[in-house]
Amino acid sequence: MNFLILLPVIISSLILGAHFFRAADYGLVLLCTTAPFMLLIRRAWVPRAMQILLLLGAAVWISTLTTIAKMRLMIGESWLRMAIILGAVALFTAGSALMFENKRLHQWYRQIALPIIPSLSAFFLTIVILSIVQIVVHPPMLLFERFIPGAGWFEIFLLALYAGWVTEKMLDIKESPRWRLRIWALFSVVFFGQLFIGLLGIDKFLMTGKLHFPIPALIAAGPIFRGDGFFMPILFAATVILVGPAWCSHLCYIGAWDNIASHGRNKPKKMPVWRQPVRIAIMIVVIAVAIVLRLAGVSVTFASILAVAFGLIGVGLMLVWSRKTGVMTHCTAYCPIGPMANWLGKLSPFRIKINDATCTDCGICHTACRYDALNMVDIKNRRPNIACTLCGDCLASCRDNSLEYHFLGLKGISARTLFLVLVISLHAAFLGVARI
Ligand code: SF4
Ligand code: SF4
Repeated sequence: MNFLILLPVIISSLILGAHFFRAADYGLVLLCTTAPFMLLIRRAWVPRAMQILLLLGAAVWISTLTTIAKMRLMIGESWLRMAIILGAVALFTAGSALMFENKRLHQWYRQIALPIIPSLSAFFLTIVILSIVQIVVHPPMLLFERFIPGAGWFEIFLLALYAGWVTEKMLDIKESPRWRLRIWALFSVVFFGQLFIGLLGIDKFLMTGKLHFPIPALIAAGPIFRGDGFFMPILFAATVILVGPAWCSHLCYIGAWDNIASHGRNKPKKMPVWRQPVRIAIMIVVIAVAIVLRLAGVSVTFASILAVAFGLIGVGLMLVWSRKTGVMTHCTAYCPIGPMANWLGKLSPFRIKINDATCTDCGICHTACRYDALNMVDIKNRRPNIACTLCGDCLASCRDNSLEYHFLGLKGISARTLFLVLVISLHAAFLGVARI
């Protein structure tokens, strides 16, 4: 029965697919023919997403109609019959979106009671971000696009579905630390997987076909040394301004390793007081060395050896110190990008705060924080220290729900939802362009 109600939607998608087939746009053909399968996902945000996609489909028909009409007018040919046919197809496509207003379908999709807006927002935000990448950037950045022209659109659709699904999972405060760990690790696997395949010789997996070292310190040191290649610093700054230091809890390909290493111990140990000054000193030294190497005109090979050595020391720190202390020592005491994310992140209005009225000073949240950002003194101050990366793990640990996200005047729950939508959409987008 539901299939019959959905038949106009399926037909609309297939006709659109046929239209793109004529234009040899095979990526969009793939998208149109597979999009109806998303209707098998029994979530209330899915029909809303499909409705908007159908309206976009109707817009494609109108745009095609106008283009053909203009051409025919120019060469003095009749266009009315064509306009009536394409107009009817556009109407049918837009009208099929109304099928979701059917009561039976409503009930079917709403049987699992979950909020619609967050997943729907993450779905469309991912589409918007990646569509910009797909349209503006050349050579293509999306992996599918590099193999089949047009297939980037299909990849965008898959990643948008993924973003909607992850948002739903992470909205559950208690489950969110587990899911954050999973999706962050997945990003690292995809990123390094691409590097590995690229090293095997399939250079379509590598950025511009050249190897770039996967060392976060190079986000700052690389462009200083080379004097060009500012894409990564700009991406880093834009991300950090948007979601604060969450770069270091959701988006960095190496941070995920330190996170896993730190979970080798149940409770984090107290870190020495010199952690913060040492971290700042390392940051200054890395930048100074990059400037000196540039001025001295040393070879790229020599600079690369230094960079690799720096990266390997960091991995050693994770394996030894992070596992022993339960604190992400690579990220909180060594990586020069960490303090930059923390400081620049202050430009973003997102914060974690502790509710003074309900906090009992029990200190349990301290054991959830792997960033050395929530010691007893910070708990008394009712806010994490500068090392906080907005990971959100402490929220799940508090029995009194005293920890909350803050964003301007929003309520804690809304601020957290907004944060998750933004950071998960960025995560999905990073997955799409995770080449090295
Ligand atoms: S501190 Fe460095 S390695 Fe750690 S998450 Fe941030 S950028 Fe990545
Ligand atoms: S204070 Fe909370 S949100 Fe901030 S880094 Fe620690 S656990 Fe994560």
